[in-house]
Amino acid sequence: MLNELEVLAKTARTELEQLDSGAALDHWNSKYIGRKGELTQMLRRVSELPKEERPVFGQRANELKRELETAYTAKEAAVKAAELEQSMAESGLDVTLPGRPASPGRLHPSTQTLRRIYRIWAEMGFQVYRSRDVETDEMNFQLLNFPPHHPAREMQDTFYTTNPDVLLRTHTSPGQIRVMRDYCPEPIRVILPGMCYRHEQITARSEIQFHQVEGLAVGRGIRMSDLKGTLINFTSRLYGQGRPVRFRASHFPFTEPSAEMDVQCFLCNGQGCRMCKYTGWLEILGCGMVHPNVLRNGGYDPNIFSGFAFGMGPERITILGHGIEDIRLFWGNDLRFLEQF
Ligand SMILES: [Zn+2]
Repeated sequence: MLNELEVLAKTARTELEQLDSGAALDHWNSKYIGRKGELTQMLRRVSELPKEERPVFGQRANELKRELETAYTAKEAAVKAAELEQSMAESGLDVTLPGRPASPGRLHPSTQTLRRIYRIWAEMGFQVYRSRDVETDEMNFQLLNFPPHHPAREMQDTFYTTNPDVLLRTHTSPGQIRVMRDYCPEPIRVILPGMCYRHEQITARSEIQFHQVEGLAVGRGIRMSDLKGTLINFTSRLYGQGRPVRFRASHFPFTEPSAEMDVQCFLCNGQGCRMCKYTGWLEILGCGMVHPNVLRNGGYDPNIFSGFAFGMGPERITILGHGIEDIRLFWGNDLRFLEQF
């Protein structure tokens, strides 16, 4: 039986050397040295031997079992290493490398300002109305009282597509026509945020793309005093209660009368500084009563309905709020700038 034992151990060892997978190793383990393995079974048969042969057999059997167990552990490590190496060579992915830390992102400074503006207007009962970036010449200009060759078109150098009637909107105002046509004859209180595009030289002060937030209120009996009261309410929510404002007469083709609104410079409190160009005032938005032609183009009868509109630039508001000196930083994708917000 001792001889049988030696043969068995030798066979087991030879088999073990030829194994090359974890599954085969598992099989080998239960075949020989597991609880029901052949070697384990043989150890139990020690009682069949004459008494004097038992110690020698038992000792040798235990010795062989330990040897096989050690060989098994070594072989298992080698097979695992080989399997890892092979999977790395096949997939090019080293699963044992530590992962790269995920750096949490944050909102773009313009998005932060936009959301602040949305919140304020939402509190005042204005909904967000989204309008398209690609517009027709008719929507972007004609229906807003810019006839072809109108000199005001010169102020808005336009990106045209290969179709001369299709362009990238130069302002969010075409959304006024779209929202009026959607809701007519219901009263309207919306803001129209979005990206606008102008074919301009890119400098520290001008970009080819920028956000605008347009606002529109249409209903019965809306007057210039409603426009002023609403916008003063907005600026006091944005810049704090009691911040002085002023309205200056201006001109836009789609409003009549038209005005620009300034707030007192919040850096120097009206004393005059570099940011306000020593005037004490910061221009923050344009506004006016919706022109009768525009109301009519939206489907509203200007003899019954009236309304006001306004437009502001979130980037300008961000620039003023943080003293940013170069508008190109907004779309330059420089993390050193963006991470400061
Ligand atoms: Zn100032």
